[in-house]
Amino acid sequence: MPEVEKILGQLVSFDTTSLKPNRACIDFIRDYLAGHGVKSEIIASDDGGKACLWATIGESHEPGIVLAGHSDVVPVDGQDWTSDPFTLTERDGKLYGRGSCDMKAFIACILAVVPEIVGKKLARPVHLAFTHDEETDMSGAIRLTDHIRKLGIKPEWVWIGEPTLLHMIDQHKGVAAFITDITGVPGHSGQPDKGLNAIELGAQFMDIILQAAQNKKENPVQNSRMDPPYTTFNLAVVSGGTAENIIAEHFQLHCQLRPHPGDDFITNFNAIEKTARAKFKPRLEAFAPKAGIKFCTCFDIPPLMPTPNNPGTRLLGKLTGNTETEAVSFATEGGFFQKLGTHVLICGPGSIDQAHKADEYVEKAQLTACVDLIRQVLLSSGAA
Ligand SMILES: [Zn+2]
Repeated sequence: MPEVEKILGQLVSFDTTSLKPNRACIDFIRDYLAGHGVKSEIIASDDGGKACLWATIGESHEPGIVLAGHSDVVPVDGQDWTSDPFTLTERDGKLYGRGSCDMKAFIACILAVVPEIVGKKLARPVHLAFTHDEETDMSGAIRLTDHIRKLGIKPEWVWIGEPTLLHMIDQHKGVAAFITDITGVPGHSGQPDKGLNAIELGAQFMDIILQAAQNKKENPVQNSRMDPPYTTFNLAVVSGGTAENIIAEHFQLHCQLRPHPGDDFITNFNAIEKTARAKFKPRLEAFAPKAGIKFCTCFDIPPLMPTPNNPGTRLLGKLTGNTETEAVSFATEGGFFQKLGTHVLICGPGSIDQAHKADEYVEKAQLTACVDLIRQVLLSSGAA
């Protein structure tokens, strides 16, 4: 069995569903690297259960290339799997298992190439960056990019091996969410003016968001590769009220945004908050201090923007013979790495069509092709 498949089998055997600790998987990678003389830094959460790994082959303080991937996977609950999701199983040239494509495949490919490059004279250092919680709040990417910033390293470019069938991706939207709580003043439904109905304010608040959404739709980004070509809003979860004959005291809304590259969550969120506070001020003041409105941001995953003269795009384009880059509808950790002031390229084995589903798989041919590509990139002189 090829080494990359053996390693992928070991990685898949760790149940690293995002809600669970990923430490055993990270420790396995650390021990594997140590076995080849590569020292790792473990950047752990406060309770130690979750961890990122940072390792360098070559001169540790030089910029170099970062190969990045997330170690966590989505849950298998309620999914109908043909074989055990945590035992890598081969059928017809495909390797089945949770995380087999998204995205333990890329990590396995990197690890398989490590023995070939240690001790070699590299044109530039190779940094390995493995995270946790990519599938939830991307707190691993935040933790790890903070660490890289503290080390004072500004990588030349970052290669994230999310499943793209080895096509090059350099653009995607962001994802962010916020929660709004409106507190009114309850009372008898027969005398609506003696209380403050939180749901009434909530309806007006949702209208503010719908107007913002409409405004984006009417002013799409010119020459966009995204579909749709503007920032979108989703009124996602609403709750409030207790009974038909009571003026509603509470209203809560969860709202999601998908900012178009070049747009950002915080600007939109601040504008919505400002409009709402101004609009509701007289009514909230009339019922102060009981009435109020509260805003809280949940997470903010930045969009990925294409950058001019991306050395990753140049190099991989030359090696694969396919110089075209694409935009995708899913978000990655790329935006956090881009905030380091570096170029980012998304390109990895397996297809996003298989990710997050029962019977997730990666084709063996994709693994072989990715191992070859990583080897060529790391051993190339970098002249592209
Ligand atoms: Zn992924």
